[in-house]
Amino acid sequence: MHCDPRRTVADLKELRALTEDENGAQRVAWTDTWLKARDWFNRKLTGLPVEVHDDAAGNRWVTLVGESEKALLIGGHLDSVPNGGWLDGCLDTLSGLEVLRGFAKKYSGRPPLTVRLVDWADEEGARFGRSLLGSSAFAGNHSIDADRGKIDRDGVRLEDALQRCGVSIDHFPDARREQQHAAAYLELHIEQGPVLERLGLPLGAVLGTKGVERHMITFRGRESHAGSTPMQGRRDALIATAKLALEIRANACKYPDAVSTIGSVKTFPGFVTAIVGRTEAMLDQRDLDPGILAAMYQAAREASDRFAREEDCTVEWSRIWSIEAVPFHSTLIDFCAAAVQEVSGSVHRLPAGALHDATEVARAGIPTVMMFVQSLGGISHNKIEDTREEHLELAVEALDRLAARTADWILDGSKSAFRN
Ligand SMILES: [Zn+2]
Repeated sequence: MHCDPRRTVADLKELRALTEDENGAQRVAWTDTWLKARDWFNRKLTGLPVEVHDDAAGNRWVTLVGESEKALLIGGHLDSVPNGGWLDGCLDTLSGLEVLRGFAKKYSGRPPLTVRLVDWADEEGARFGRSLLGSSAFAGNHSIDADRGKIDRDGVRLEDALQRCGVSIDHFPDARREQQHAAAYLELHIEQGPVLERLGLPLGAVLGTKGVERHMITFRGRESHAGSTPMQGRRDALIATAKLALEIRANACKYPDAVSTIGSVKTFPGFVTAIVGRTEAMLDQRDLDPGILAAMYQAAREASDRFAREEDCTVEWSRIWSIEAVPFHSTLIDFCAAAVQEVSGSVHRLPAGALHDATEVARAGIPTVMMFVQSLGGISHNKIEDTREEHLELAVEALDRLAARTADWILDGSKSAFRN
């Protein structure tokens, strides 16, 4: 092995010390602390035979030019949520850096193919509520006009915050140019969930990112006095909503990886002496299989009609947001599983419940896979987010093997499998 996984752990600790306070990591995109993290990252590149530039959306590209212009891409994001952890996103970037160092060393600065490390800008969307900002621009899925006027807590516009960092939102479409020669994309991320820990496994191969269906469901009954209205004959919108919450849980449990959540319920008029005349419930359902996602939607709708009838209410649905499931590339998933098997002796394949930059890259038609490393307690987006150091080291080693295998595959000209 030409890379040094212990150096990645040391890099992560260095970055942590530089960019966290007593509440956790503070590398929120487009802030001074994020810029400081990126300056530090640039210093880490000193002495490597690489070209470095930021694209039109602020994504930072580190290119190790090889004999072939076909490029293996490895990515991550140095930005964090406020009060975040030490691994979410920067493990990806810094493990990718270590793999790139390994390629540079093994091939004396000129590998047989081009290796590009990308640090995506604003994966988290923590400040302006727009996740995957830089990677969506790369993929050509950006919605400039919907986003330019988004404002943060202090009333700063997204467009102006970017400008301060030298990025003009009007030029975002130019970021698509970076797709040129991209032959595959790899990303190592912490799982941010409990599955691998429960299985006692350090690493997993990710099958894709789940599709999401998000809806507002409004039940209407009749407001009346909580004291003088008998239990019989009430039209209580909250009862219908509560029945639905139980039903969607039972329904999602029929499938191995599906999730279904009512994360918010507002009641109206919303005081203790009134029967609830109206509720607004927000439903979020996810699965990797579009058929299962559609079936869960259908089942929830039918159940809501049934419960509305039972409680003498009405129900209306409106879609808030949705995104299709994005399966990763089957050959690369096999490579990832093989690399995980080699370094840890066993492997589990699992879907990602959250969206990642890899989702956008895959949507652009570039063969993509992610690898997960176990998260202790399944906790992320919090300062106690953690992963055992030996697992981090195994993850870097597995990513290195995956990169080597993928590079061979690219050079073998697996063109028939491209852009499947
Ligand atoms: Zn992340």
